[in-house]
Amino acid sequence: MNVIVVGGGISGLAAAWEAARHGASVMLLESSDRLGGKLLTSHVGGSLVELGPDSLLTRTPSALELVDSLGLDLVAPTASRALLWSRGARRPIPPGLVLGAPPNLERALSSDLVGPITRLRAAWGVIARSRRGHETDDLGRLAAWRWGRTWSERHIEPLVGGINANTIVGLSARVSAPSILSMPPSGPPAPAPSRPTRPAFVAPSGGLSTLVDAVAQVLVDLGVDVRSSTSVTELAPAPHGTAVTTSDGSSFSADAVVLAVPAFRAAEILAASAPEASLLLRGIRYASVSVLALSIAPTLAPSLKGVAGVLVDRREGLMTTAVSLASEKWPHWAGDDALLRVSAGNLHDVRPLDRDDDRLRDDLVAEAEGILEATLEIRDARLARWTNAFPHFAPWHLDLVERIDRELRDALGSTVALAGAWRRGSGIPTCIASGRDAARATISRDN
Ligand SMILES: Cc1cc2nc3c(=O)[nH]c(=O)nc-3n(C[C@H](O)[C@H](O)[C@H](O)COP(=O)(O)OP(=O)(O)OC[C@H]3O[C@@H](n4cnc5c(N)ncnc54)[C@H](O)[C@@H]3O)c2cc1C
Repeated sequence: MNVIVVGGGISGLAAAWEAARHGASVMLLESSDRLGGKLLTSHVGGSLVELGPDSLLTRTPSALELVDSLGLDLVAPTASRALLWSRGARRPIPPGLVLGAPPNLERALSSDLVGPITRLRAAWGVIARSRRGHETDDLGRLAAWRWGRTWSERHIEPLVGGINANTIVGLSARVSAPSILSMPPSGPPAPAPSRPTRPAFVAPSGGLSTLVDAVAQVLVDLGVDVRSSTSVTELAPAPHGTAVTTSDGSSFSADAVVLAVPAFRAAEILAASAPEASLLLRGIRYASVSVLALSIAPTLAPSLKGVAGVLVDRREGLMTTAVSLASEKWPHWAGDDALLRVSAGNLHDVRPLDRDDDRLRDDLVAEAEGILEATLEIRDARLARWTNAFPHFAPWHLDLVERIDRELRDALGSTVALAGAWRRGSGIPTCIASGRDAARATISRDN
């Protein structure tokens, strides 16, 4: 069986790996001149820095299997304490919450981010054993019902909103916060989890680009034909499978195709052959974000020692959503200078897009100085703009994904499968799982 994978981001790489190791003859087509998509390791001031994602969660077995098979040296964060910039001050985010939600009374009553009335309201939500909210998939509404609006805004919004470049109002709870949904509504404090065998987050010591390079090497070893600078424009049904057309007019035929590209690109590619699926894909919105990596003189306040980062309360009105103290957080980023990563922009805040690079850099430095209450002595800087990078998971997004799959099957049978961050969540492990699932779906069709 021959399989074409379109898109060389982590979803496409995982799909190609899965198909090839199950004996398929695989071709991987990537439009840009490099593999990895959003995974982009760079250097600033001579130190390693990630301009896209900086780590991956270790909870998804499907992702770990791939990562472990590569034999990469993985490192864990050396700092995990997080702060919130809210009401003009840095405040500790209490530990033991589940994506900001209080799992028990003790946690609800001990947060210093909010006043006593808000704590009592959250505690009432814990005691009331409320299942209310299960009829909605809107995380903002669900969290406000359960623990109160102020609690949600100070604890859940900065974390889950930040991860998804969005607000939690209008965000699918099932996609963005399944662990909140699976929390028992109340009950005694959960027993302390048994000591985890590995840290929750890891990163390859050489940066995430080494993960990309390692997968690419395995693909070559498995005989995968990897072609960069090859943009796919169209898929069409062919007598035995699918014809894949590229922008230079070439056409390849495949028994099966995995499309592992952003939803709006999949919409373009499927416009003629699966118009209904294409229309639905086109409706998925995306948020643009910017990352400013700064190498600075190591003169930060001692109170920031051991702090991984500062999240920003949206109500502060800043463009910045988080300041990561990267060289505190990651041992492999530590050098003579300190490293900061300032993240900005989300679905509802497009101010970074209106500014040219110099202005954006100056504005983000000024915001970081305010948040860190320090004058930064900048030695080097890199700005990365990620346009249309984070899919928006609207309430009932998973139903939409099912509909898209149905429409695609109706139009093209089971010869084409979809993968990518837009399906079930944008975390790297979820992307790896989506790529592997899509590849397996095409392979099992052949059996
Ligand atoms: C700033 C930032 C920080 C993040 N932080 C984290 C984090 O810490 N941890 C985490 O787990 N996740 C994080 N994420 C999310 C994660 O990086 C992405 O969701 C994930 O990398 C997306 O992978 P993908 O393969 O689905 O898509 P992409 O990486 O977008 O890959 C799609 C690929 O398809 C190619 N392509 C597009 N059109 C065509 C075409 N017509 N023909 C051929 N090829 C095409 C593109 O060039 C691209 O290489 C972050 C993302 C960003 C932007």
